[in-house]
Amino acid sequence: MIKAVIGGKTFTESRTIRVTIWNEFLAEKTNPEVANVYPRGIHYALAEGLAPYGFRIRTATLEMPEHGLTEQVINDTNVLIWWGHLAHEEVDDHVVERVYQKVLRGMGLIVLHSGHFSKLFQKLMGTTCQLKWREAEERERLWVVNPAHSITEGLGQYIELQEEETYGEFFDIPTPDELIFVGWFQGGEVFRSGCTFYRRRGKIFYFQPGHETHPTYYNKEILLVIANAVRWAASPHGAEPVFGNVKAQERE
Ligand code: ZN
Repeated sequence: MIKAVIGGKTFTESRTIRVTIWNEFLAEKTNPEVANVYPRGIHYALAEGLAPYGFRIRTATLEMPEHGLTEQVINDTNVLIWWGHLAHEEVDDHVVERVYQKVLRGMGLIVLHSGHFSKLFQKLMGTTCQLKWREAEERERLWVVNPAHSITEGLGQYIELQEEETYGEFFDIPTPDELIFVGWFQGGEVFRSGCTFYRRRGKIFYFQPGHETHPTYYNKEILLVIANAVRWAASPHGAEPVFGNVKAQERE
């Protein structure tokens, strides 16, 4: 617990970051190849992998009422992690709007892999978020291109993954506020694999690795990046703005 007294007001901040991991949790139940890698779901693997970092973690899935992202859950979340692929269209627009508004008010958001095509990410980006892809089990090297950023803390020059789904440019996103990783794939493609975006008070990190047939979310360096990103995204950016009709500050 951190305590600070500023201008007679006491501010306290609990160090425990509240993380909600959202996964559509479909392929793990229908595709044996995926079930073999993630028998209890991608969300479970992520929750286990992030547990040593001391966050308070809960998981939520598509099949739960309101996809597990009720007002109460969202209000009790500092950082939301999002993985989806097959069922982007099945995510209810009301839930998307609720999460979107919470991001603007300062909830951190980490969008993983095929989450680039989620309604939520597209709404926050304002672009199609299309890209090139190929399932060819190619080697990927994720180059750190922003070593001063806290998301890269503890890494070397790059992370190497023996096999990952290939994603390639052009990736139809707005120019990122910060580019953190550039991915290179064995087949020749490059990709903006780690990007940050600021949306009003919310911090967003997009991170490309994590195709469901590869054991990427057991990789310690990938988990370190996600944990670093949780810490980075947990504190809202800047001050709450004022909108609408306002009285003059000065009199003639
Ligand atoms: Zn994929």
